[in-house]
Amino acid sequence: MPFVFDFDHAHRKPPMEMKDLLGGKGANLAEMTSVLKLPVPPGFTIAATACRAYMESGWPETLTGEVAKARARLERTMGKRIGDPSDPLLVSVRSGAKFSMPGMMDTVLNLGLNDQSVEGLAKQTDDERFAYDSYRRFVAMYGRIVLGIPGDEFDTLLEAAKELAGTTSDAGVPVELLRYLVDAYQQIVERHTGRPFPQDPDEQLRGAIEAVFASWNGPRAVAYRVRERIAHDLGTAVNVQAMVFGNRDDASGTGVGFTRDPATGATGEYGDFLVNAQGEDVVAGIRNTEPLSALKDEFPKIHKELLSIFARLEAHYRDMCDTEFTIEQGKLWMLQTRVGKRTGRAALKMAVDMVGERAIKLTKAEALGRITGEHLEQVLHPQFAGTGHRVLARGLGASPGAAVGRVYLTADDAQAAAERGERVVLVRSETSPEDVHGMLAAEGILTARGGLVSHAAVVARGWGKPAVVGAESLRISAGSFSVGDTVVNEGDWISVDGTNGTVVLGQVAVSEGETPPEFGIILEWADEIRAGHLGVRANADTGPDAANARRHGAEGIGLCRTEHMFLAEDRLPVVRRMILASTPQEEEEALEALRVAQRADFEEILEAMDGLPVTIRLLDPPLHEFLPDTQDLAIKEATEGLTDEESRLFEAAKAWHEFNPMLGTRGVRLGVIKPGLYAMQVRALMEAALGRSAAGGHPIVEIMIPLTVSREEMALARSWVTGAVEAARQAAATTGRGSGASSAKPKASGSLEVLIGTMIETPRAALRAGDIAEEADFFSFGTNDLTQMTFGFSRDDVEGRMMSAYLEQGLLKRNPFEVVDPDGVGELVRIGVERGRATRPTLKIGVCGEHGGDPESIATFARAGLDYVSCSPFRVPIARLAAAQAVLAGDTGARSAAKARTKAKSKPTGAAGSRSKAAR
Ligand code: PEP
Ligand code: MG
Repeated sequence: MPFVFDFDHAHRKPPMEMKDLLGGKGANLAEMTSVLKLPVPPGFTIAATACRAYMESGWPETLTGEVAKARARLERTMGKRIGDPSDPLLVSVRSGAKFSMPGMMDTVLNLGLNDQSVEGLAKQTDDERFAYDSYRRFVAMYGRIVLGIPGDEFDTLLEAAKELAGTTSDAGVPVELLRYLVDAYQQIVERHTGRPFPQDPDEQLRGAIEAVFASWNGPRAVAYRVRERIAHDLGTAVNVQAMVFGNRDDASGTGVGFTRDPATGATGEYGDFLVNAQGEDVVAGIRNTEPLSALKDEFPKIHKELLSIFARLEAHYRDMCDTEFTIEQGKLWMLQTRVGKRTGRAALKMAVDMVGERAIKLTKAEALGRITGEHLEQVLHPQFAGTGHRVLARGLGASPGAAVGRVYLTADDAQAAAERGERVVLVRSETSPEDVHGMLAAEGILTARGGLVSHAAVVARGWGKPAVVGAESLRISAGSFSVGDTVVNEGDWISVDGTNGTVVLGQVAVSEGETPPEFGIILEWADEIRAGHLGVRANADTGPDAANARRHGAEGIGLCRTEHMFLAEDRLPVVRRMILASTPQEEEEALEALRVAQRADFEEILEAMDGLPVTIRLLDPPLHEFLPDTQDLAIKEATEGLTDEESRLFEAAKAWHEFNPMLGTRGVRLGVIKPGLYAMQVRALMEAALGRSAAGGHPIVEIMIPLTVSREEMALARSWVTGAVEAARQAAATTGRGSGASSAKPKASGSLEVLIGTMIETPRAALRAGDIAEEADFFSFGTNDLTQMTFGFSRDDVEGRMMSAYLEQGLLKRNPFEVVDPDGVGELVRIGVERGRATRPTLKIGVCGEHGGDPESIATFARAGLDYVSCSPFRVPIARLAAAQAVLAGDTGARSAAKARTKAKSKPTGAAGSRSKAAR
C-alpha cells in the first residue's frame, strides 16, 4: 500500500469515506478534486499510515521516493518547480487527521522559498514586497515549527522593524526592512541550529513533513485528544498543496463560507471574506471582515460560482459544509471543505429540515445520526457565551451547564449567602451529605477532589446543577482558595462550566438553555426507533426529580437511592441515630422515624411515576458518607468542647470507623447486621404503594437489594422483603386499605405486583449471576461500583490524581468512570447477563450506574442485551437518542429479556409486562 496519493488519484471508493487513510482534510480535498471536479489547487496527501510508521520506527524508507515522485507530478501539473530561481512553485504543508483538531497541529506555508527563488517570485509577481514578506514569514514559520526555535525571537524583531518604520501593521513594513528581517531571521536560525537556513527544497519539504508528523504528539494535540476522546494511535495525514495567494491585489481575496448558518441552522450561505488578504488574516481577526453576501457586489461572478459550489457540496455531502476559499486575481479556488461543526440548536434544526428537503432527503435514521449527546446538552443547559475565556483551573466536567456565583467555602456560608439573595458557587475539597444544604443553595459546585461518581458529581447530576469536580490545582484554606499565584476569596465571583470542567475567574456571560421545537421531534423519532429494544429510565430520589425525569421522557425509575432521601439537614441525624444505635429500643425508634419520613417520599415518587415501574433500592450508605467527620469533632472537642450528643456521636463514629468504607459495611451487609432496617423500608414503601392503589393510582414497585454477592445473601434479603410485603398487605387488608392486598406473590394484572431484584455491583456477583438469579426477578448493573471493584480504582480518589496521566500516556483509552470499560467491566456485564438469563430466561436487566447516560456505554449495554438503561433525569434525552442510535447500529442484536418474554411467557410476569405496556 503506497503512502502518497495525489488529490486526483482514482480511489476505489469515494475518498470522503477514506478519512482513516487520508485524514479529514485530505479525504475532502480528494473528493472535491476527483469526484466533484471543483477548482482545487493541486497537491498530494501523505497518508496517516506514514505517520503511524514514523511514530513506530522513524521515517519510512519508501516515503522519500514517493514524495519525490508526487512532487514531480505536482510540478508538471503546475508547470513550475519548487525552488525554481526564476518562477518558483510554493506549497503549503498542512496536517489533517481523521478527526478535526483545529489549531492543535502544525502547518508550514510558503515552502519552496530560498535566497534565489524569492527573487524569481518577486519578478514573476512584479511585487518585491510580496515576495520578501512571504519569505520572512516562511523563515519564521519554518524556524519555529520545524527547527523548534522560540517564536518570540522572530516576533521581537518584527515589532522592532515596525517601530522603525513607524507603523503598527505588518503590511506597513517596507521591502528594505523585510529584506533585513529575512537576513536577521536566518542568523537566528544559524545561531540556534549551528547550520544555515536550509536552501534545498527537498530538505525543506522533508523537514516540514516530519514536523507535522511530530506535532501529532505535541502537548497541545495530546491534551486535545484526551478532551475530545480521540485515540492517540491514529496519526495524522499531511497535505502538500500548491499555494494560491489571496493577497496579490484587489482582484484577490480570501474567505470562510458555510453552506448554512452553523449557529442557528438557518438556510442560506453564511461566512466572511476579506479583499486582498491571506487566510490567516480572516481567522486572526486583525482586519474587519465583510459578510459573504457582500461578495455579490464586489465579485458578482465569483459569488454566483461559490453559491453553485455550495449547492453542489450540500447535495453531495447531504449536510452543511464549511469551506475555505481564495480568489487569486479573479479566479476562485476551493482550499478546503468539510462537514461543518455546528451548535446544538443548529444541529437539531438542520437534521429536521434536511429530512424534508428534496436535494438532501435524509431519512429519520440519518437525521438521528447527525445529533450527538453534546448537541442535546447544549440546548438543555446554560452555556458560557462566547469562547476564549481565561481558564483559572480545570477539573472534570461532572454535571453539565454553566454557573456563575460568588465563592463560598462551607455549606452553611453558601446557604446563608443564598438566603441573602446572592448567587453562590460552593467550593469544597469534596462534598458529603453534610454539605447537601449548601449544594442545594448553590448555582454550581466546584470541588478539588473526587471523580465522576463521587458524592458531589452524583448529587449534582441528579439535580441538574453544574459541577466541576477534582480540580486538583485548587488549594483551599480558611476563607479563600488559590490556584498558583491567584487567590480567590470568599465572596469573589467565579464561573464554572460543568460541561467541559473549566473554572474562570469573574462573571462570564451565560446563554440560557432553551430547547427548540426540533428537540422534541428528534426525540420522538428516537423513541419510535428504540421502542421494543432498549428502555430508558431515570435515577431519581424525590417526587420532583421523578416528575422532572418523566417530563424528559423517562419510562420509569431505574434507581431510587433511598439513602439520598436522608441527605436533607433534618434527616441526616435520623440515619445516624439508626446506624449508631446501641440498644434495640434506640434502633427501633430511629427506624420508626425513618419509616414515617420515607413513606411520604415514596408516595410522592410513585405518584409522579404512576403507571411506570419504580425501582426502589434499599439503603446503601457507605458509612463514611453518613457518619459525622471524626476530624471535625476532634477539633471541636479540643477547642470548644462537645455537647453530650456530640460526644456520643464521636464515640460511635470512632467505633464505626472503617479504613475502606467503600468495601465495608454498606449495602446488603448493613441489612444483615441491622435486620430491622430493610423490613422498615419495605413497610414504608408498601404502605405508600397500597395507599396509592387504594386512591386509584397504578404503582408499579420493584424492590432492589444493593451490593449482593451470593445467592445466600439474596435469599436472605428476599425473605425480609417478602415478609415485610406480606405484613403490609395483611395490615392493609385488616384496615381495608389497598387493592389486591392479600398476597405477597405477584398477582394478575390489576393487583399490586412487587418484583424483588438486586444490583450487580461486584465481580463476584457478575460471575455468580446464575446462582443469584435463582432468587432475583431482575438485575440492575451498578457500574460505578463494578468499575471501582473491577479496576480496584477508588471511585472517590483516582480520577483527580492519576486519571489524566493515564489518559495522556495512553494507559487507558477512556476514563472508565465516564465511559464503561467495554473489555473488562463490559465482559463482566456480558457474563452476568448470560448466566443470569441461563437460570431465568425472563430476567429483566438494566443498568443504573452513571454510565447509563453515556452514549458510548449505552452502545456497550445494548450489545450485552440489556432491557433498559437508567440515568440522571437531565441525561434522559441523551440516553433516548443514544439508545436509538445503538438500535440503528445493530447493537441490540443480542437476545434481550423483552424478546425472551414474547417467547417464554413464564413466571414471574410482574412489572416487566407492565413496563412494556406503559412504556410503549
Ligand atoms: C453503582 O454502583 O453503579 C450504583 C448505581 O450505586 P451507587 O452509585 O449508589 O453506589
Ligand atoms: Mg453502587
